[in-house]
Amino acid sequence: MNNKLYGNLIFELSHEGRKGYNLPENKFGNYELPKEMRREKDAELPECDEMTVVRHYTNHSGNNFGVLNGFYPLGSCTMKYNPIINEEMASMPAFLNIHPLQPVETCQGALELYYNLQKTLAALTGFAEFTLNPFAGAHGELTGLMMIRQYHESRNDLKRTKVIIPDSAHGTNPASAAVCGLDVLEVKSKANGRIDLEDLKAVVEKEYDNIAGMMMTNPNTLGLFEQEIPEIEKLIHDCGGLMYYDGANLNPMLGVCRPGDMGFDVMHINIHKTFSTPHGGGGPGCGPVGVSEKLVPFLPSPRVIKDGDTFTLQKDGATSVGNFLGNFLVDVRALTYILTLGKENIKMVGPLATLNANYIKESLKDVYELPIDEICKHEFVFNGLKDKSTGITTMDVAKRLLDYGYHAPTIYFPLLFHEALMIEPAENESVNTIDGFIEVMRKIAQEAKESPELLKSAPHNTPIGRVDDVEAAKKPILTYKQLKNED
Ligand SMILES: *Cc1c(COP(=O)(O)O)cnc(C)c1O
Repeated sequence: MNNKLYGNLIFELSHEGRKGYNLPENKFGNYELPKEMRREKDAELPECDEMTVVRHYTNHSGNNFGVLNGFYPLGSCTMKYNPIINEEMASMPAFLNIHPLQPVETCQGALELYYNLQKTLAALTGFAEFTLNPFAGAHGELTGLMMIRQYHESRNDLKRTKVIIPDSAHGTNPASAAVCGLDVLEVKSKANGRIDLEDLKAVVEKEYDNIAGMMMTNPNTLGLFEQEIPEIEKLIHDCGGLMYYDGANLNPMLGVCRPGDMGFDVMHINIHKTFSTPHGGGGPGCGPVGVSEKLVPFLPSPRVIKDGDTFTLQKDGATSVGNFLGNFLVDVRALTYILTLGKENIKMVGPLATLNANYIKESLKDVYELPIDEICKHEFVFNGLKDKSTGITTMDVAKRLLDYGYHAPTIYFPLLFHEALMIEPAENESVNTIDGFIEVMRKIAQEAKESPELLKSAPHNTPIGRVDDVEAAKKPILTYKQLKNED
């Protein structure tokens, strides 16, 4: 690739008067926009010929590292397994061109798909009903919490405005509670990374009839299974609260256990994580919410209902999180993912994700510090290199990985450890891919001792070297004018 020719900003490739293409002469007359709708001055857009534009963007796309380029062991907000067949299904014109205001008689197939996904998710998780309306995990959390609120209000139990959230929770949990107008009561984690039951008991005792519910993530943000769910569930239900399950990362649970069977009242799933859909930079996502029988009356409308052989929309529900049915093409991908695996194979997803994560953990724990040395679920956290004398940080390891063709794991999250390096391999990676990663991670640990400079200045093989993250966060350059230092 010639960066000089096509890698510059598109504005720098501009030549005044240059056109992308010329349309044939317009024989149909001019229909100008009304004057009040037109801008006063033409927008300052780059003027380029067609091939320059195409090459510019094609070459730039090659600068990206994605799941289709190499191993991508990000933990938590992961891109997991994204089979290409899902993209083919989601690109079918019948799905792609559908309109949210289309009469239901004209989109029965789409509604059937929607209905089947609702039912399939309910079967996989042990809940009575599902809504697919929320647009993301955080949106699902808000929807679930709104239903919990409505439930208490319907019983005239108006004091319940507090929600218990563990300190290890994903940041969206307290944020969603705040948006829902609920106050957060934090519970601590124990040294083994699990919820501190004694701390929880104290909180429950103190706030007893103010408690709307509790949000739990399982496996938690450290990739650990919460072993005391029965005790926690009893504590919360006994005081009149409801149990919320953050199931953003459900893959390790598939085929192993169901949150509905554990006594939870409501949960959300990030189908853009667990059931595929490439996402990032804010979308696209979908955060379906499942509920037990007692919350069914509070499900948001519209809902897809089956009436004999036809599918209709029910629009008079108790809650609403928007007028439409959510992110439909993400639903198409999720159902494709589930159906192409099938009932038997889907039971292997959890065990394989767990096996892969534990294999990496055990193979590297002699050179990377493992703060909680236990069997993990689909992911686990190292606290940087074991040998702290080299001065090599988690950031250096992450950057060096890029030189070897691997995407970095999640770094500096969760906040429980200073040099967090959170690794999730996903269930579909081969043992050869994983062995390759382990080998490179060991090599980097060796380099940290022998040639630390190589790591400090990494990456060396990428189009752009080490960027100044702090500067970039504080003074982001978002427009061409900022780059040129104009106004
Ligand atoms: C990703 C994630 C969320 C938030 O999901 P979004 O779709 O990004 O809003 C919530 N909880 C956990 C545990 C997550 O991993």
